[in-house]
Amino acid sequence: MLRVGILGGGQLGRMLLQAAANYPVETWLMEKEEDCPAAHLCHHFVKGDIRDFEQVYQFGKGLDAVTIEIESVNEAALEKLESEGVKVYPRAAALSIIKDKISQKQFYKAGGIPTAEFQVTHDLGELRKLGSWLPAVHKVAAGGYDGRGVRILRTTEDLEKGFDEPAVLEKLVSIDKEVAQMIAVNEKGETALYPPVEMIFNPSLNLLDYQISPAELPQQTLWKIEAISLRVVKDLKSPGIFAVELFVSRQGEVFVNETAPRVHNSGHHTIEGNFSSQFDMLWRVILGYPLGNADSILPGAIVNLIGEAGHNGEAHYEGLDEVLQMDNVFVHIYGKKETRAGRKMGHVTILSKEKQELVHKAHRIKQALKIVSKS
Ligand code: ADP
Repeated sequence: MLRVGILGGGQLGRMLLQAAANYPVETWLMEKEEDCPAAHLCHHFVKGDIRDFEQVYQFGKGLDAVTIEIESVNEAALEKLESEGVKVYPRAAALSIIKDKISQKQFYKAGGIPTAEFQVTHDLGELRKLGSWLPAVHKVAAGGYDGRGVRILRTTEDLEKGFDEPAVLEKLVSIDKEVAQMIAVNEKGETALYPPVEMIFNPSLNLLDYQISPAELPQQTLWKIEAISLRVVKDLKSPGIFAVELFVSRQGEVFVNETAPRVHNSGHHTIEGNFSSQFDMLWRVILGYPLGNADSILPGAIVNLIGEAGHNGEAHYEGLDEVLQMDNVFVHIYGKKETRAGRKMGHVTILSKEKQELVHKAHRIKQALKIVSKS
């Protein structure tokens, strides 16, 4: 039986382990929180810091393969493990291109992959000279996620709100739709593409509000998305699973925003909605089985369950009964004890042939289901 380690024990690790239960694989998990969402589903839990070289190296030594559920891992340790014969998904080289937004943008540019025009800035002094680039989006090179580390700068006064650390300044794209394309790549370089997903954001939280798959776009745009995403993963030269996030502009252009080299929140509906889920697919890649069928069984929507504002403490799920009575609706609670405003606590997948029904149910679920702390 192959011995496989996962770095990071959040909900992505949890769902990956749920899928692992169907395969002959022995699983290890490293995370510093013993009570994390994935801890109770692995065979072997190792308490540790995934950002620490020595701890990651010791964790991976002796395993057949290691994968990640988050980018903020020690990639130098992964490189060393790789050089010693441990299979790493994604390859350490691909991860290090992606981990830093500067190198990620330079990678797209070097490969002729369409992405918003950008400038690198190292500090506020450099940023202040780029008034002619506005309106633009300033993004920290390292450590930002879920919209933290991203600021929209419209006027020269806004430049003062930029980051005084290495960052990229991107031209503001006039976005019509935000789309994600999941792709699996096996060791032979064969690929499986999921139907693209359309993401709808909640502007106040900068978190995903809900999403729908397949994205509703003209066939030509879908082809562009597919071709561009394939170029991204081919150039990354790594097996694994990837979520390529793209913008479709009002003019119909397609730009890559960023790529996640791992299972991703835009693919949760694939658990019930597609023949092979993103989690199942990654195990097929790691364990050397044939790629699965990425096609959708039925169109799907995902509603994220986010901790209510003003509620911090032990999580309670109001309205769960109502949602559990709905047809073709699948509830996933991540098992986090404490809720906080804006924290991702779970998701609900809805399947239906009718787009209107997906949207209608998504709104009903958002209204019915609240994650609160008992006061
Ligand atoms: P994170 O990695 O933190 O999710 P992103 O790079 O995805 O950050 O940016 C967060 C959001 O900011 C995007 O989903 C998009 O809505 C907006 N955004 C990012 N870059 C641009 C851009 N060049 N033009 C317009 N909007 C952008």
